[in-house]
Amino acid sequence: EAFDGLNQSLEKAWQKLKGESAINKENVKEPLRDIRRALLEADVSLPVVRRFVKRVEEKAIGTDVTVGLKPDQQLVKVVSDELIGLMGTEASPLAERGFGTTVVLMAGLQGVGKTTMCGKLASYLQSQGKSVTMVACDVYRPAAVDQLQTLGERVGCPVFSLPDSKDPSDIAKQGVKAARDAKADYVIVDTAGRLAIDEDMMQELRDVRKAVKPDETLLVVDAMTGQEAARVVQSFDESVELTGAILTKLDGDSRGGAALSVYEVSGKPIKFVGVGEKLTDLEQFYPDRMAGRILGMGDVLTLVERTEAAVEEKDAERLMKRMMSNEFDFNDFLEQSKMMAGLGSMSSVMKMLPGMSGITNDQMRETEKNLKRFEAMIASMTEAERTSPDVLVRSPSRRARIARGSGHTENEVSAMVATFGGMRKRMRSLVNMMGGNASAGMTP
Ligand code: GDP
Repeated sequence: EAFDGLNQSLEKAWQKLKGESAINKENVKEPLRDIRRALLEADVSLPVVRRFVKRVEEKAIGTDVTVGLKPDQQLVKVVSDELIGLMGTEASPLAERGFGTTVVLMAGLQGVGKTTMCGKLASYLQSQGKSVTMVACDVYRPAAVDQLQTLGERVGCPVFSLPDSKDPSDIAKQGVKAARDAKADYVIVDTAGRLAIDEDMMQELRDVRKAVKPDETLLVVDAMTGQEAARVVQSFDESVELTGAILTKLDGDSRGGAALSVYEVSGKPIKFVGVGEKLTDLEQFYPDRMAGRILGMGDVLTLVERTEAAVEEKDAERLMKRMMSNEFDFNDFLEQSKMMAGLGSMSSVMKMLPGMSGITNDQMRETEKNLKRFEAMIASMTEAERTSPDVLVRSPSRRARIARGSGHTENEVSAMVATFGGMRKRMRSLVNMMGGNASAGMTP
């Protein structure tokens, strides 16, 4: 997970305020140093870090005291608010014309994942019930056109190209016209990438822009490049005028600096993030949820969204309500793990659960094995035991019976009951943190 390092270092900052009665200029010095170091290690640029830490200091010592928070919680809240602000505060949804075809122009340096992102975006829009056409404008690399065509076949979306043309603006123009004629809701125009920023590429992008008048001009950047990604957004914006950025490879061991710097450095919002090589590895970018993830609270809301995409909406809603209530029981747990199995990579889902963000791959495999074990044990429970998990905490004889029935030891059953109890507790504390309102965002 991209933010592991960051959230572990930030954790140290809060710890230092534990037991203090208030935040003052003296006792906040060390925590601020930790925050500064954590952000620099995450590859956020120095000027951004300086401004950030200064704002946090002012607010933490200043008047914005929230009643009922301890000093360490107060600092988490200030940092959370500032992180959200740093990333643009509000989500910035993709433009959509009320009438006619919305034109999305995609730009980016080679290898950042631009072409893959065109396919992901097409697939995402289709899942929202929109019709999409893609246009391949790379006149230098026939392989890039083939790649887009293959993606188009996989998502079931037409791809427009003109193999004999050497004029990107003309291809773009004709492609957009074809999309309009086909009454597509969106047309995604993929342009040629270069290895580095050069004036020819910028000119070509300006020409294509003039030819198709896009509603969105999105620059795709690679999260692994850290603060450099933010500078690339800034320089493209200066030459071609962007409407936003898309961050790819946020699943890798990028340290988070790009997500934190793009908006602050360039003034352009991040609209989407790519979190893997599969076509479904796309998420909308929400500053508040990203802040929650950075602070290590697990991104429950993103999990809800993915769950909703994968299962019947009413099932997901009901399950979420149960997760957020005190009633979450073994039946819900079974249903949840079945849903998760349908959500693609188990590990990417697990990492979004509260308290799970620091999990390693080995622990992940162990967890998957545990899940299988859990399922076998739950199968040996009576209906009463499934719906009132607490009876198992109190009754060794029931645990012994389940152990025999499922082919496990009593210790294993006890461990499972304890793990389940811990999970329920984490879910409850998350609800409390959000003021009992599951849809209120991730601000602690
Ligand atoms: P382009 O040159 O910018 O069009 O880049 P491609 O779309 O061809 O992608 C370059 C490489 O990055 C490919 O191997 C992709 O599978 C990979 N890639 C793209 N997006 C992601 C992502 O979000 N996560 C990871 N891990 N890999 C990605």
